[in-house]
Amino acid sequence: MTSTFLQHLPPDLRTLRWREHPLDGKLLLFDRDSGLNVLLEGDETADVRRIAPRTLLIAITNVCNLTCHFCYRDQQLRSLWRYQTLLDFCREIDAWGVAEVAFGGGEPMLFPRWAEFINEVYATTTLCLNFTTNGTLLTADFLRAIHGKYGQIRVSLYDDNHWIETLALMHRCNARYGVNWLISPSELAGIEGKFIQLLALGVRDFLLLSYKGSDPALHLTQEQTRQLSAFLNKVHHKLGNAVSLKLDICWGNALPDVPRLFVSGDCGAGDDFLSITSDKYVKACSFAQTSVGFPFDTVADLRQIWETQRHQRQAAIIGGCARLPDRGLKENGANSAYISVAAIQ
Ligand code: SF4
Repeated sequence: MTSTFLQHLPPDLRTLRWREHPLDGKLLLFDRDSGLNVLLEGDETADVRRIAPRTLLIAITNVCNLTCHFCYRDQQLRSLWRYQTLLDFCREIDAWGVAEVAFGGGEPMLFPRWAEFINEVYATTTLCLNFTTNGTLLTADFLRAIHGKYGQIRVSLYDDNHWIETLALMHRCNARYGVNWLISPSELAGIEGKFIQLLALGVRDFLLLSYKGSDPALHLTQEQTRQLSAFLNKVHHKLGNAVSLKLDICWGNALPDVPRLFVSGDCGAGDDFLSITSDKYVKACSFAQTSVGFPFDTVADLRQIWETQRHQRQAAIIGGCARLPDRGLKENGANSAYISVAAIQ
């Protein structure tokens, strides 16, 4: 099917190394080197069926060099992932049909021989490898060593992780990166100034994260959500495609006035992507309760769990989950997740 489609592409795009990722009734073409996606949908794709999740989010370590007060990880917990077991796992999920892996933790930069691992995944699989980092351990040598071998490095913006220095380094080294930015009420208050600062540092890829959790002070109220919508529309109007503005999937329909590139109903947790813990449990998403995870040993186990659970569409019982009515929030941003879940059970 791909070869038929390629004839219609401009010549420079025909030479990309497209990988097919079948979806239900659609076919996604993905090139890991450029990050380009092409979604095919029509009569020819009506019978296409998904065979694997697109992305696995994998917590490879619990250790971190920072001690952020909001971090929920137990740093004493040992991860079951080792260099070789993780590499074998990547090769097997590649053969299964998974297209991307996104590593987090803990701090992935602390995983042993991390640059070597990234190079080996690139050389021996067709997976696109991404990772999220606090950025403090990145160096020019490391970035040179992995150049062209990863999809994106996502840098988290915290109060104390010296992101100005990190982003300047990323820009200097021509790294492929974006920022993960949690939009709490206090961040919203200074969003315009910080956005301009990030632009000046060279950032062009922004992922705006919604807060998931039980602290009402961190959820946006409806009025604040409207302010965020207005800001996003203003940026989009002024900068258009010069910047990539992304919203995490848990915003759901909270920002109806913001134009979206793709119309999507469900967040896809458990089907389009899976969350893998450091002790080898699989959950629909990172925010799902540990009690609803499934232990697995082999990729065959994982595949069976995905096949039997993928249509469950379970919500994470947490304020801010788009699968809950009104995202499990009251008007003032307070958490009503437990009430909402009781109501839909
Ligand atoms: S299940 Fe809820 S919390 Fe998890 S990714 Fe989907 S919307 Fe977000």
